[in-house]
Amino acid sequence: MTVPQQPLPCSRTWEPVNLAEFPPLRILAMSNPCPACTLEDVLSHLDHWECVTCGHEWSKEAAPVTARVVKDAHGNPLADGDTVALIKDLKLRGSSQVLKQGTKAKNIRLVDGDHEIDCKIEGSPMALKACFVKKA
Ligand SMILES: [Zn+2]
Repeated sequence: MTVPQQPLPCSRTWEPVNLAEFPPLRILAMSNPCPACTLEDVLSHLDHWECVTCGHEWSKEAAPVTARVVKDAHGNPLADGDTVALIKDLKLRGSSQVLKQGTKAKNIRLVDGDHEIDCKIEGSPMALKACFVKKA
């Protein structure tokens, strides 16, 4: 008795495949949570993500960029335009001037780098570390 040979699924691979018809893959996107509701239960479509929870859709090309959060000495997030106060005396590098605890810097600007805060104190441009200030 001969078993009729079943055509293997792979014998059809020469056919053009429309990837758009593939069912979306449901994944738990730990590294790519929904930008709208922040939950991680998302569908991976060919060119975009879809949130199972809230229905939000977003492009795969424009993956959400996680904004860097700069926090002050107490863990409060800082933003451009904030006013901060020094929590300790800070000696200025290359000078004998000391910035006193409590000195305020208005209208700060957050920058990349080792000193996260760009600001002016008493008219002079300063770069401060966020860990030495608190939000005023
Ligand atoms: Zn969502």
